[in-house]
Amino acid sequence: MTQYVYDFSQGDKDQKDLLGGKGANLAEMTKLGLPVPPGFTITTEACREYLRLGVEPGELRVQATTALRQLEDRLGRQLGDRHDPLLVSVRSGAKFSMPGMMETVLNVGLNDASVKGLAEASGDERFAWDSYRRLLQMFGKTVLDIPGEVFSDEMDKLKSAKGVTSDVDLDTDDLKGLVQAFKDAVRTHSGADFPQHPREQLDLAIRAVFKSWNTERARLYRRRERIPQNLGTAVNVCTMVFGNLGESSGTGVAFTRDPATGRAGAYGDYLANAQGEDVVAGIRNTLSLDDLAELDKSSHKQLMKVMRRLETHYRDLCDIEFTIERGKLWMLQTRVGKRTAAAAFRIAAQLVDEQMITLDEALSRVSGSQLAQLMFPRFDPSGNGDPVTAGMAASPGAAVGRVVFDSPAAVAWAGRGEQVVLVRKETNPDDLAGMIAANGILTARGGKTSHAAVVARGMGKTCVCGAEELDIDERGKAIRVAGQTVGEGDWISIDGSTGQVFLGQVPVVPSPVETYIEEGLDAACDGVDQETVQLVQAVDRLLRHADQRRRLGVRANADTAEDATRARTLGAQGIGLCRTEHMFLGERRTMIERVILADTPEDRNAALDALLPPQREDFTALLDAMDGLPVTIRLLDPPLHEFLPDRTELAVRVATARAKGEANPEDERLLTAVERLHESNPMLGLRGVRLGLVTPGLFLLQVRAIVEATCELRRQGRSPNVEIMVPLIGSVMELHLVRDEADALIEEIAAEAGLGDLRIKIGTMIELPRAALTAHRIADAADFFSFGTNDLTQTTWAFSRDDVEATLFAAYLDKGVFTVSPFETIDADGVGRLVRIAAEEGRATKPDLKLGICGEHGGDPESIHFFHQVGLDYVSCSPYRVPVARLEAGRAAVTAPPG
Ligand code: ADP
Ligand code: MG
Ligand code: MG
Repeated sequence: MTQYVYDFSQGDKDQKDLLGGKGANLAEMTKLGLPVPPGFTITTEACREYLRLGVEPGELRVQATTALRQLEDRLGRQLGDRHDPLLVSVRSGAKFSMPGMMETVLNVGLNDASVKGLAEASGDERFAWDSYRRLLQMFGKTVLDIPGEVFSDEMDKLKSAKGVTSDVDLDTDDLKGLVQAFKDAVRTHSGADFPQHPREQLDLAIRAVFKSWNTERARLYRRRERIPQNLGTAVNVCTMVFGNLGESSGTGVAFTRDPATGRAGAYGDYLANAQGEDVVAGIRNTLSLDDLAELDKSSHKQLMKVMRRLETHYRDLCDIEFTIERGKLWMLQTRVGKRTAAAAFRIAAQLVDEQMITLDEALSRVSGSQLAQLMFPRFDPSGNGDPVTAGMAASPGAAVGRVVFDSPAAVAWAGRGEQVVLVRKETNPDDLAGMIAANGILTARGGKTSHAAVVARGMGKTCVCGAEELDIDERGKAIRVAGQTVGEGDWISIDGSTGQVFLGQVPVVPSPVETYIEEGLDAACDGVDQETVQLVQAVDRLLRHADQRRRLGVRANADTAEDATRARTLGAQGIGLCRTEHMFLGERRTMIERVILADTPEDRNAALDALLPPQREDFTALLDAMDGLPVTIRLLDPPLHEFLPDRTELAVRVATARAKGEANPEDERLLTAVERLHESNPMLGLRGVRLGLVTPGLFLLQVRAIVEATCELRRQGRSPNVEIMVPLIGSVMELHLVRDEADALIEEIAAEAGLGDLRIKIGTMIELPRAALTAHRIADAADFFSFGTNDLTQTTWAFSRDDVEATLFAAYLDKGVFTVSPFETIDADGVGRLVRIAAEEGRATKPDLKLGICGEHGGDPESIHFFHQVGLDYVSCSPYRVPVARLEAGRAAVTAPPG
């Protein structure tokens, strides 16, 4: 027989799967001998059975009866008895806490007869009727699905008729009247009388809790929080204790430390003569724990003792619910409490100081995303006016700037040193330059996976998207919102952590954690309050510990000396990816164009020669900035068309000129070439190593520039450490072809320079499935592999990222095809499997093969843990993600199962 019912004395905190979080912790507190009102838990399994069958499993009724009778015998009282009745609460409690999502009914067992028994036994008639009206209210709403307002309106009517504002001002007769009114409302709205039979009340309440697992809002919440939909909830049946038994009673919530700031010392709210949710519902002003100490010294003292005990036991911040019944303390709930990012760091460090946990444990309790939150600048909390509207909080941070409506304007304004916020109906890949130039991005359309949101998060840029109330006229350069018009150049402030949009300049304060990471502990602690000092010190301590413990190196993706320098400040141990194509934007684009379109070898060589000096300068600056640290330079990668003039524009120009009879031979020639080279699927076309192999001299030019830069720095006594990386290899032959030429050239230049071995490594990206699957052969020709997980994800799924993110991903996330975009977190089963195969087989061929990853996944916490497990040597990510990656790599080392 399946056991569906567990007494509180039977379980423990590790049984959350079966008993739910609340039930498991009630059992744990019972085991600890803390004052928990007795009761029992109905398992999540029973709930799953109920949801599957549509009726309670037969054994459940029988087992519930046994448990209830035992409870009654132990207490010497019976559920709903007309003399001194036993009353219970019926409480939901799933494995993961889902605040406010599911239901609880208090005072089950009260009816027209037992309310009198309760009045007699307690000697407090008012209390008995107050409890009854609460049962009717909660039962009506939760079990009978009657709108809550039906009851609250009744209550408000009564209060205003009496001219009182608080529920405690209602007397016994008022409450009796209210009970009658509630019973009438139940009959009107449900078509039946309120069930008087106690056991029927209990059974209906249990069923209602089962059902509350599947409400629309609960399902939505779980989708968002990535909680599986099939877990079910447990139901806790718990003897009632009463905080509404007059002024010597009350109810409260408390935390063993402040969950908002992390300040040490208990923190809580208390409400006298109240029950259940009253304290959080804001119906009356709550008291602090200090106030409670004045009110009831001995209960307060006992509460402190219990909290200390819990914290010692759980070795973490606990939150609790408690009730005081006529001076006697009862514990109704505890769990390891949720906390803000700042509190997480501070509390972890405090617990180490108090020798409650080790540094390794402390590290496992903070996360990279919490660190990222702490690094964003924020609006000065005192400086906010009212938001004019709000959209989705797509990428955190606080951005202030002048409104611009398109990408060129953003670039132009920013070029003049202006702060700008790019405002678009929605963004597309063409807006990238503007997004980079802007402080923040605001869109009227699209959700959290819209282009704007995804790209902004990728860049660590503040973004509010889908602010639908904005009426944006991109041509007329105006936004109309809330009766006001905002034009180009007007100031706007957006809060990517809340989605709020403000007109004007809201003051921002730089985050002290950011200051710490960039300038060190002293700079960050200068002139800030003690709380902030403690936060910064906690971050410092845990980040340093992560650095000590991690096996993964952390490098940055950086294309310029400026980015490289910043990355170094942030703790990068090298450059994992320098994209050379970024060096050919703007004016230099035409230089590559000339190489590609050259008709004769002479033309091509001339074009290549012109490219050499600027390329050499780029590399010299970059290698100099990263002196001593490895720098992986990727040879030219992007699709051909990015280096050619726009086909449509050119065609129009040629046609116009022809029409005027002024045909321009140069344009005509260019157009023929562009048409000849046009690709309908450039991502899968002539790019990467393919472009290098069909364009004589192109890669060699880059290799020459790299080697000459290395020589120059060597002569200056510097220690450049360069790694040349070939993109988009599918076959080892491709790598051999590039490598043979490159090795020869390196040798030649080195010999000329007389500098000995330049120790330049040559390796490849693994970013095509075929490369991953033939890694054992490719390893023969490579000194290192770097996984290009962006392209590997695109090619494994056959997803064109720029297209599917806009058109498909919202639907796929909603339908549960994936719970997170595979471009955000590595798809461990598919793409990750290819990474694992390539890593293992590459190392089988060459045991000392160096393995890294340079896709965007290199900065994603979950992915970093995966790369740690697969045994890579380093991750490489955007400079600003470097601290996050350092922390997560450390966490991966202390939390990963060995092996
Ligand atoms: P939630 O999960 O929403 O916190 P709970 O099951 O904890 O719901 O119950 C809601 C409120 O009722 C809480 O304030 C809780 O402390 C209170 N409560 C629950 N059971 C009892 C009980 N047996 N006696 C007194 N108060 C109770
Ligand atoms: Mg609770
Ligand atoms: Mg690639």
